[in-house]
This record gives sequence, structure tokens and C-alpha cells, in this order.
Amino acid sequence: MQKKKTKYIFVVGGVMSSVGKGIAASSIGKILQSRGYRVSNLKADMYVNIDAGTIRPAEHGEVFVGEDGIEADQDLGNYERFTDQVSTRTHYVTTGQVYAEVIKRERNLEYGGEDVEVYPDIPKEIIRRIEVCQQKNKSEIVIIEYGGTVGEYQLLPFLEAIRMMKAKNPDDVFVCLISYLPTPSLLGEQKSKPTQRAINDLHSMGLNPDFVICRADKPATPDIKRTISNVCSLPIECIISAPDVYSIYDIPVNFEKENLGATFLKTMGLPLKNKDLADWTAFAEKIKNIKKEVKIGIVGKYFNLKSCKDTYISVIESINHASWAMNLKPNIIWLDSEKYEKNPKLLSELDELDGVIVPGGFGDRGIEGMILTADYARIKKIPYLGLCLGMQILTIAYARNILKLKGANSTEMDMNTPHPVIATMADQIDKIKNKNYGASMRLGAYDCLISKGTIAMNAYKSAKISERHRHRYEVNPKYVPDLEKAGLVFSGKSPSGILMEIAELPKSVHPFYLGTQFHPEFKSRPLSPHPLFSAFVKACISKK
Ligand code: GLN
Repeated sequence: MQKKKTKYIFVVGGVMSSVGKGIAASSIGKILQSRGYRVSNLKADMYVNIDAGTIRPAEHGEVFVGEDGIEADQDLGNYERFTDQVSTRTHYVTTGQVYAEVIKRERNLEYGGEDVEVYPDIPKEIIRRIEVCQQKNKSEIVIIEYGGTVGEYQLLPFLEAIRMMKAKNPDDVFVCLISYLPTPSLLGEQKSKPTQRAINDLHSMGLNPDFVICRADKPATPDIKRTISNVCSLPIECIISAPDVYSIYDIPVNFEKENLGATFLKTMGLPLKNKDLADWTAFAEKIKNIKKEVKIGIVGKYFNLKSCKDTYISVIESINHASWAMNLKPNIIWLDSEKYEKNPKLLSELDELDGVIVPGGFGDRGIEGMILTADYARIKKIPYLGLCLGMQILTIAYARNILKLKGANSTEMDMNTPHPVIATMADQIDKIKNKNYGASMRLGAYDCLISKGTIAMNAYKSAKISERHRHRYEVNPKYVPDLEKAGLVFSGKSPSGILMEIAELPKSVHPFYLGTQFHPEFKSRPLSPHPLFSAFVKACISKK
């Protein structure tokens, strides 16, 4: 029997960025998966950084952490939420990784004395990485999303990689262009010229799209579809509309209305299997009609640039999933912690909320405002969920205000604190001294043991869980006995018992006061919310 050949779909952007390429790639993955295929979604980013771990969140959005500790682009979060794929480093490629590997091999004399050239050695390494993703994940279809837009200088070796793959396997390699159709307000009609320009850019690289997805506020008109199909000599059904929608979860449903699954499979020469999108479709429909609100404040610090929606995307989606499952419409209020340190009286605005979340973060800016928030939420019995930094904040606030340890802090914020209740593990000290910052935190999935009779146990209903981490600092074991004596419950610990993973107050003291050293937000899914977010939202509505 002939070996089944893997199909590769390259998703590239045209005209402009930020039109939802990641969601489109995730949705294509979802649809093909619903048709019974084993799909992997991979992201290739053009920057020279080895990973996203050293990029400012306000610059690049959330750093999404994979199971094996890869610090990746936020799109891997979209892939997981749509297809439930478990992301690892095989799903993420950057220019930096590609060059680092080629240079390492050159230093090892692996090119046997040849010149090592940008062409073809760089595209070859890009292809090798895509094939590793396919092999490791045993995928039948690999969807590779390229960051940026065609026409960009940095994208050239990546486009060349497609051309080389396609030259070798013309029936297995496909290009999907995600373009944008502007509607100038003076004209009031969609224009396809920028998309035609993007197609020309692809042509100049020896590539023609096999599919064009047209992002716009409205569906693409038949005229526009015809024009685009002519420019790239494609059947009209390969030009697919992607108008604005109520929620990102509508996008796979809308794509199927345009027959995307059947068109893709037919073009790729794959059998049309049945689709199973019923649960997803019902879910996307249900959330539109939810009226009752739950009001949740996020007290964070990355609000200055671009949009906080990118910075905290997994937290937002986790709140959404948990709320929707309880037929609640989340109303998220963005609160900059710095304002509370300037004027603590403003904290009274937290009284208006049903609950408050202090998410992850780095560095000392805004920290005092978060500590004030944690203390206020404790006293006023406002449900509080601390994520990573938010758990460290909860612990510092408890040490200062209950144990009366004046000046208690994390050594990340104050190297000379008299009470380092949060401090680094020994192995981190050398890393910091040697400026070894890249991929050197405690990263990825680790087991955690949960104590009986706690809020955590009630949520997880399991004595052993695994969650993803990204932190350099920890609860200092020296302070654990005193904190416990003072009433703080460490309901989750590493199997060694040394690392504190969850801190909480008993239900008899506070309706919900809990922080996790890990990031539960990376594992919430639209149809299966994370149990800790569900428990938190439940506490929020009970407060009402
Ligand atoms: N800055 C803290 C640490 O490194 C918290 C990290 C985070 O919130 N992800 O431990």
C-alpha cells in the first residue's frame, strides 16, 4: 500500500497584520480536525529572538508557555484553545532558532567544508523543522502560520522554503493567503487592489495562493471574489469570506458556511470525511445570548502600549470560558495597579466588582499597588485569584499584614528586603549573575500535589495535577512554617514538598482567596473551562 502523504498548508498574511491570521489558522485546524484528520498547527515568527521569552509583553503580547517549557508566541494559545493540541517546541520556529542551528552545525564542520549560504541553507533548516513537527506529532496535515505579511524582507527565506517544498512535492504543499479588504468610508465599497498587490508579491516569489481568505467587516462581494479568483486563476470557491463576527469562536462555523473544509480537502486530494462541529457550533451560538453579567477586575501593569487584550489573552479567555459555562457574560474591567500606590483611596472601586484577578508580571513597577489590592480583597472578602506573580503578591501581603513582617517582599522587587518571603532558588542565583536570562526560568509542566479539604481540591477533584510554569522566584521555604501558622494554607506543593504551588485561605475565613505559582490560564478550553477559573467565577456570583 502506498504510504499516505502529509499535506502542508502555509498560512501567510497580505496587506496588513493584526487581521486575525492566528485565529484563521486555528480555525482551519479545527475544521480539518473535525473532519477526522490529525492536524498540527505550527507558528513561524520572523524575529531573531530564539523565543518570545525575552520580549516585553506590551510589545509582543502574551508569552504562551508550552508543555515542554517553550516560551512561544500567543498564537500557540489560540491553536490549543481551538484544536486542543498540546504545544511543544516542535510547534514554534523563529529566524533566531534557524540561524543558531545552522551556525552551530557550521562550527561542528557538519557542512563538510562547503560555503554555508542564506540560500539554500536557511530555507532547508526551516523545512527540516516543519518536518520534525510533522514526525513528532504524527500529523496528517500540518498548518504553518507565518508571522508578518508577504513583501516583508524578513519573510523571504520562509517563502523560499515553501517554494522549495512545493517544487519537490507539488501535490502536498498549499498556500493560504489571509488578506484584508478595506472599505474606504468615502466610497462605501470593498476594494481588492491591496489583495491583488499581495498576490503579486507571492507571484514574485514563485508562489500562487491555493486559497484566499478575505478578512473584512462584511463578507466579500461576488465581484470581489471573482476579481481575486481571476488574479490567481483559482476556482471561485477557493476565495473565502471572513467577515467580522461576534466572537472568535464563530469563525470555524462561518468558514464551514463558506464550505472551507470541503474545498480544502478537495483541493488537497483528501477524502471528504464527515464533520463533527455540533458542540462547537452550539457553544458559539449560546454565548451570543447570555445577558447576566459577572464583573471581574484585572489589576495588572501592562496597559501602556497597544492593547492589554493581547498581553492577557489566555487570562481573558479563561474568564470567558468559565463564565459562559455558567451562563454569565463576563465584563472585564482593566485596572492599572500603579494608580493604587499613588492614591490608595481608589481601592474602594474594587467594592463594585464581583472578583479580582492579579495576573503574572515581572519587575517592581506597580507591585505595591498589587500588594494593596491583595490586602484590600482579603479584608473586604472580595474573591481574589492570583496567577503566578499574583500568588507571590498574596503571600507578600499576608506576611506584611498578618505576620507583621515590615518590608517583606520578593527579592525580585527589593534585593535588600529584611524579609525575603519570595526569593530565588539556588540555581537561579548564578543564572542572574551571569545574565543568563533566556529560557532559564522554571518553565513548562510540573506535577503538583493537592491537599484534602481545600478549595484547590474541591476545584480539581484530584490529588495530583500538572500545570505549566514560568517563574524565577518562589515562596521562600524558610517562611512557610510561620505563614502556615498564621493561617495561610499551601494547598498545592511540588512532589518534593519544597516548592509552594498554591496558596489559599480556608473557606471559613474568605469566600475565595487563592493564588497559584503556575499559570492555569494556559490550559482552559472553550468547552472545558479550567476548574480553578470555574471555582473563582462561582465565588464571584455567590458574592452577588
Ligand atoms: N516575576 C515573577 C517570577 O519570576 C512572576 C512571574 C510570572 O508572573 N510569570 O517568579
